[in-house]
Amino acid sequence: MLTPEKISELKTKLLEEKARLEHEIKDLSAADFGDDTDHGEEEAEEDEQIANNLGVATDFAERINDIDSALRKIADGKYGKCEHCGKDIEPELLEINPESRLCKNCKR
Ligand SMILES: [Zn+2]
Repeated sequence: MLTPEKISELKTKLLEEKARLEHEIKDLSAADFGDDTDHGEEEAEEDEQIANNLGVATDFAERINDIDSALRKIADGKYGKCEHCGKDIEPELLEINPESRLCKNCKR
């Protein structure tokens, strides 16, 4: 079982991670507004860069979703339960990945 101390420690981690991801997304979208260029080739490279950034930003947005859902579960007192089998998620897994929705068994 997770102690309230452990939960508040993981909650801090989640909030820090969320702030970091939001910051990274901001950086990525700021990069999109780089200086405009008339050279077709560079533009193509820029498009590629933007597409890459979008992919990364989507990954980050998904992680933020997971973090938000973990934070909601903390608020509801349901944090640390596997969404698939309902068992407690291994504490060492939450340590590495506090936004985990599944236990080790169900992750496989
Ligand atoms: Zn499970």
